Amino acid sequence: MPDPKCKRVFAALSEFLDGELPARNCRELERHLSDCKPCIAYLETLKTTSKACRQYGEIDVPAPPADLISALRSRVLNLRAKSNRQGPLARRR
Ligand SMILES: [Zn+2]
Repeated sequence: MPDPKCKRVFAALSEFLDGELPARNCRELERHLSDCKPCIAYLETLKTTSKACRQYGEIDVPAPPADLISALRSRVLNLRAKSNRQGPLARRR
């Protein structure tokens, strides 16, 4: 388990990304983030997620139908299976 401080950082990060965190806390957070790998990694995932959420919010799409979701899911699984198969082959010459 990483630094117990990380827990607080994790909790504050979403506020930080929304710009809702007080400046003093931001500085503390940034200092911690400058040399804490788990927190940096977490921040990266949070950034990606919040970006994705914002994009969905802008498009304002209703929930996709279940058959579309399962079609997408099987396509993703197919792609993953394909790349798994190609991986070792591509390296082998
Ligand atoms: Zn940390």
